[in-house]
Amino acid sequence: MAAPIDELIDGCLEALRFEPELTVSQWADAHRMLSGKASAEPGPWRTERTPYLKEIMDELSTTSAVQRVVLMAGAQLGKTEAGSNWLGYVIAHAGGPMLMVQPTVDMAKRLSKQRLESLISETPCLSEKIAPARSRDSGNTMFAKEWAGGMMILTGANSATGLRSAPCRHIFLDEVDAFPTDVDGEGDPVTLAERRSTTFSRRKIFMTSTPTVKEFSRIESEFLLSDQRRYHVPCPCCGVMQWLKWPQLKWEDNEPSTVLYECEHCGERFAESHKTQMLTAGRWISTAPGDRKTAGFHLSSLYSPLGWKSWEEIVEDFLRSKSDAPRLKTWVNTVLGETWEEDYASKVSADGLMARCEHYEPGMLPDKALALTVGVDVQDNRLAISVWAWGREEEGWLIDHQEIYGDPSRPELWKQLDEVVLREWQHGLGVKLRPDVIAIDSGGHFVSEVYQFARERGRQGVIAIKGQSQRGKAPIGKGSKVDVNYRGKTLKNGALLYPVGSDTIKTTLFGRLKHNEPGHGFLHFHMETTAEYFEQLTAEKQVLKYSRGGFPIREWVKKPSARNEALDCLVYAYAALNRMYQKYDRRTIWDQLERRLETGEKAPLRSRKQQPSAAAPGFVSNW
Ligand SMILES: [Zn+2]
Repeated sequence: MAAPIDELIDGCLEALRFEPELTVSQWADAHRMLSGKASAEPGPWRTERTPYLKEIMDELSTTSAVQRVVLMAGAQLGKTEAGSNWLGYVIAHAGGPMLMVQPTVDMAKRLSKQRLESLISETPCLSEKIAPARSRDSGNTMFAKEWAGGMMILTGANSATGLRSAPCRHIFLDEVDAFPTDVDGEGDPVTLAERRSTTFSRRKIFMTSTPTVKEFSRIESEFLLSDQRRYHVPCPCCGVMQWLKWPQLKWEDNEPSTVLYECEHCGERFAESHKTQMLTAGRWISTAPGDRKTAGFHLSSLYSPLGWKSWEEIVEDFLRSKSDAPRLKTWVNTVLGETWEEDYASKVSADGLMARCEHYEPGMLPDKALALTVGVDVQDNRLAISVWAWGREEEGWLIDHQEIYGDPSRPELWKQLDEVVLREWQHGLGVKLRPDVIAIDSGGHFVSEVYQFARERGRQGVIAIKGQSQRGKAPIGKGSKVDVNYRGKTLKNGALLYPVGSDTIKTTLFGRLKHNEPGHGFLHFHMETTAEYFEQLTAEKQVLKYSRGGFPIREWVKKPSARNEALDCLVYAYAALNRMYQKYDRRTIWDQLERRLETGEKAPLRSRKQQPSAAAPGFVSNW
C-alpha cells in the first residue's frame, strides 16, 4: 500500500528528529520488554544481564561507522534477543528500509508470527508505530511491516525473488550457515541480499550464525575476514584479562560438578560463581586487523550468564557426546560456537597428494596400464580434459590434464578436442593406445554441442554423460537416446546419454586418494602435476548435513569460489572406465585388455570401417 504524500513527509520529518546519539543497547534498556511467552526472564530488557552483547548491539547503531557486524556464537547467549533489539531500534529510530533474511521462507514466516509480532505488541513505542496485523490496510503483513518513515521485508534465503526486493539500508542475515549455497540458480543468497544495500553509504549488515563444518562455514569465513573480537574477562585471582577457552575447564574424572576454570596466566582454578563479576568487567578486544568495515565477534556458551547454561552442563553434554561424532559435532557447533572438522574429509589434502608425485613421464602410458579413458568437463569458455590410464584392480595413472580455451558453441574448440580423442598414446611396452572411452559432461550450457560431438565420434568411444548427485547411484547407468529431430522424434543413430553416479564415484575415489600403497585402486600422479591441479582435485569435501527430520546426511560440497574441474574430469574418466565394464565381461576384462597389448596392435580401438581387425576379442566396437 502506498502511503499518502503527507504521511511520507511526516515520516521523513520524524526520521530527521531521532536522537542520533542513541545506541541499540540504550534503546533496548529504555524501551524493550521481554514477553513471558518467549523469554525465561520476562520484564524490561537489561543489557547488564548479558554485558558482552552491548558492544555488538552498539556497532549496529547509527552512531557506529562499522558496515558489517558478524556474530559467530554458540547457544544460550541471548543473541536472538540482541537481533530483536536491533529490529526494534530500526523501527523506532533508525528508519530506512530493512531486509530480514532467514534460511527459508517458512522460517521467515515463523519468525514473523512468533518473534516479531510479540516484539511489536509488547513494546509500546513499536506498537504505536505499526498497526496490528489483522487491521485492514495496516501495512502489516506476514512478510512486510510498514511504518511512517520505513519498512521491513522478511524473506527466506531459498527465495531469489524475495532477495531481489527494493534497496535496503539494513540487512539482517540470520543463521547464515543454514543458507543454501545457490538460490534458484542465481548464485549466493548472501551476495544477492548484500547487493540490495550497495546504494546506501551508511548501511548495516548483521550476520549471525552457529557455525557448522570447517571450510564450509560461511560465518567462520566472514569472522576470519573481520577484526576477530574476543570477549576478555579478568581472572578473579590475578586480574589478567583473557578470553574463555574450553581446554581451560578442568574437572575430576566423570564428575562434571567439580568443574573449575584454570587461569591461563596464574594457573589458579576458580568456580563459575565469579562469572557475573567477570562478565561485567569484560571487554571486547580485536585479535586481527580485519578490513576496517567489519566487526567480528565470537562467543562460546562458556560466557552464558549464571542461571542459563552452566559450565557443569557443558561438561555433562561433552561427556555424553564425545564418543558419537554427529553429537560431538553438534556440541562443538552449538556450545563452543566453533566449526567442526570432518576427519575423513581432512585426510585428503592437496599438499599431501603433491608430495607423493612420482617419476613417470607425462603423456606416456606406464607398463602396467591396460586401458585409457578421458574425462571432459565443459565450461563456458573452455574444456578441461584429463587422460587416465588404468591397470588391474583399477590402479590409475594421470597421463595428461589440459585446458583448451575457446567457445564451446564453435566447432574450432571441438576440433582441438578431436586431437586428444584421436591421439595415439605411447605405451611403455612400445605399442600405442587410443582412448577407449571419452566421457563428456553434458550438464553445462552446451548440451546440443556435446550431443553432436558424441554422435560424430561415437565410434571412437565418445559418450555424453550427465552427473547425478543423488546418493547410491551406479557409477554409470544405462544409456538413453537423446537426439531428437525437428519433429521431436528420437533419431535412430542419435547420441546416447549416460547417467553418472557422481556422488558414488567421488566417495570411491576419495577413499582411494587416501591410499598410501600402490596397488589396488591407487591413483598415481606424475611430477609435472601442478599445485592448481591438486587444489581442484580436493576442492570438494563430503560433509555431514542434517535433513529436516534431523538425521545426518553426507553430501559433497564445493569450497566457496573454488574450481573443481580436475575432480570432475577424474570422475568422468572413472565413469568412462565403468562404461567399459558394460562392454566387457567383468571377470575377464583385464586379461582381455592385456592380450590386446600383447598382440601389439597399434591402435586397438577404432571403428570397424577404419580398421576391422582392431577390436580385442569380446570387444564390441560399435561405440
Ligand atoms: Zn589468574
